[in-house]
Amino acid sequence: MSARVAPARSGVRAAAAAALLALSLVAGCGGSSVQPTPAASTAGSAPDPTDPAAHMRTVLLDPGHNGGNDPKAMAKKVPDGRGKTKECNTTGTSTDDGFPEHKFTWDVALRVRQLLIDNGVNVVLTRENDKGVGPCVDERGKKAAEVNADIAVSIHADGAPPNGKGFHVIYPKPPLNTAQGAPSLALATALRDSLRGAGLPVSSYAGVNGLSGRSDLAGLNFSKRPVAMVECANMRNAEEAVTVSNGVGRARYAQAIVVGILAWLGRNPPASAKPSAAADPSRSANSRAEGSESDGERSGSSASSSPSATPSARARTAN
Ligand SMILES: [Zn+2]
Repeated sequence: MSARVAPARSGVRAAAAAALLALSLVAGCGGSSVQPTPAASTAGSAPDPTDPAAHMRTVLLDPGHNGGNDPKAMAKKVPDGRGKTKECNTTGTSTDDGFPEHKFTWDVALRVRQLLIDNGVNVVLTRENDKGVGPCVDERGKKAAEVNADIAVSIHADGAPPNGKGFHVIYPKPPLNTAQGAPSLALATALRDSLRGAGLPVSSYAGVNGLSGRSDLAGLNFSKRPVAMVECANMRNAEEAVTVSNGVGRARYAQAIVVGILAWLGRNPPASAKPSAAADPSRSANSRAEGSESDGERSGSSASSSPSATPSARARTAN
């Protein structure tokens, strides 16, 4: 298609501005003529509600998988958050032409980060580059709480049967703490709505209306903040392979993700204003697995959400 980045981007900026406007209204920053006090952040004192920094939102972005290929390190078993174990991580799937998922997720994450920063949102990534190995999926799941992020968004692309296409957004189900419940479903829904609003196709093979609840993903199970995982596309689908492999296509995913993130932030108060959900996922008695996959945080073709996925098709997602 002949779509250009610039017009789409300005559209996102407009939507983002609207979302941030809503954010400032929800946060209650308006209505006061009191000037922020430069010395308001003295250690030990209560946060000054007029200090703009007090409302700085933080988003943890997880570019799924890793670029480095160390089979021994990645095969290390780590807790899945529901009483079982799974592999530390993988390099993910790829298009049939060999464009790797880790490269896709890294590029989209950098684009999302820049757009969020442009909109005044602080961003932390789970990995520093696209060359190293790890961190393992359980560590990624714990990261949002460690950096005091408001939410965590994991970015992936799927390796499903080639006749399936479209995005789906995964949320933890059943939830293991308060944050994994309604707030995570709301985040997943906001992302679903923004991706669909950007004209991206809803998955034809996974989830229901672009949403999929999963219990087998450690990156979700360990989160103590609202969390969602975006499966942007099916890299094995010929049409979507073209989209994920070029910068214009990746920018489109990134812009849509940012709109969804800003929409969620605009509807929810800062994390610092909320009681933390402190339940320990590892203590959950629930260990029900969905589907037969047990590796990495690879994605959409779970038995529960993709009845058309065959075992052989799932095997193609192996790395
Ligand atoms: Zn993945």
